[in-house]
Amino acid sequence: MARRTEVTTPEILPQETRADASLRPERLEHFVGQDAVKEGLRISIEAATKRGDPLDHILFHGPPGLGKTTLAMLLAREMAVNITSTSGPVIEKPADLVGALTNLRAGDILFIDEIHRLRPVIEEFLYPAMEDFKVEVRLSEGPKAQTMTMAVEPFTLVGATTRFGLLTAPMRARFGITERLDFYSSRDLARIIERSARVLDLEATSAGAVELARRARGTPRVANRLLRRVRDFAQVRADGVLDAAVVRDALKLLNVDEYGLDGMDVRILLAIIDNFGGGPVGLNSLAVALGEDSGTIEEVYEPFLIQEGFMMRGPRGRVATDKAFRRFGRPVPDQGEGREDGPVAGQPTLFN
Ligand code: ADP
Repeated sequence: MARRTEVTTPEILPQETRADASLRPERLEHFVGQDAVKEGLRISIEAATKRGDPLDHILFHGPPGLGKTTLAMLLAREMAVNITSTSGPVIEKPADLVGALTNLRAGDILFIDEIHRLRPVIEEFLYPAMEDFKVEVRLSEGPKAQTMTMAVEPFTLVGATTRFGLLTAPMRARFGITERLDFYSSRDLARIIERSARVLDLEATSAGAVELARRARGTPRVANRLLRRVRDFAQVRADGVLDAAVVRDALKLLNVDEYGLDGMDVRILLAIIDNFGGGPVGLNSLAVALGEDSGTIEEVYEPFLIQEGFMMRGPRGRVATDKAFRRFGRPVPDQGEGREDGPVAGQPTLFN
């Protein structure tokens, strides 16, 4: 059986790259939600097309699985240009990028995922390419190395990062457009699930889609993964129809958390509750207790936990809310030490 951590992790799993790609929408209009981002992009596309210019360099940031790569591909499709994809950690030396850059035609897109992981020497190499469409190529090694300047066609760099905070200021400054993607409402996730079900040739009732959406951690990648996992169950047990009861049974079997929390979410909340009496606890102490990088906790995990009302960020640190205590069956503490700034009971959150 799949472990809970795997089923709801927002990161892509190695075995699902193809399945993930097959569910990518092919037109911007099929990209569900993120309306403000889409509208901004539509305007940029229209303006660039009218002027006959390439799009400005664009940076997408936000937690994993929310559609950054998908948007890069949709931009290429809408602009009718080619897209070349690479990723920060795989580019070792400037020479690795020369081929890609010089092969670009006017208006083409170079997509760099995990752009915060570019080595400084690669960043330096990219700046003149982004600004003046030229690159300095070294012809030999050593201090007296000869260099040659090569022109590249005006192109668009689309960068994606889960860790905006790690991007250097000069790099950030070179993007004309910066868009942040946020977690999706259950309503939008249900629409994504209905569309994916059609692509997978699976009949899903709207109640079934909503039921699945509520456990999808606000993340389309998780929604699509849950859909694939419950598909077999629906086909064997329910004549292929995915309704709310089938979804509930299948997810119980898969051990999926009723709120879509993943393994790391659970560890963070339990650390605050069990090691720090519910908080407040400083980010760094929490990171040490978890053996995890503080920036990852802050930028990848916390936004979801806060949005869902499991955690608060107060002046003196992170606090687990009553909802978090209840979720883990721990007695809810009295309004003590620093916990008085917890959320109002029964306050609705985005996902329920
Ligand atoms: P990221 O690059 O942010 O990690 P991806 O673009 O790879 O995320 O998206 C993960 C999966 O979720 C893909 O299969 C994609 O098709 C799907 N997806 C993401 N956003 C949307 C959306 N708004 N509408 C439909 N499908 C989406």
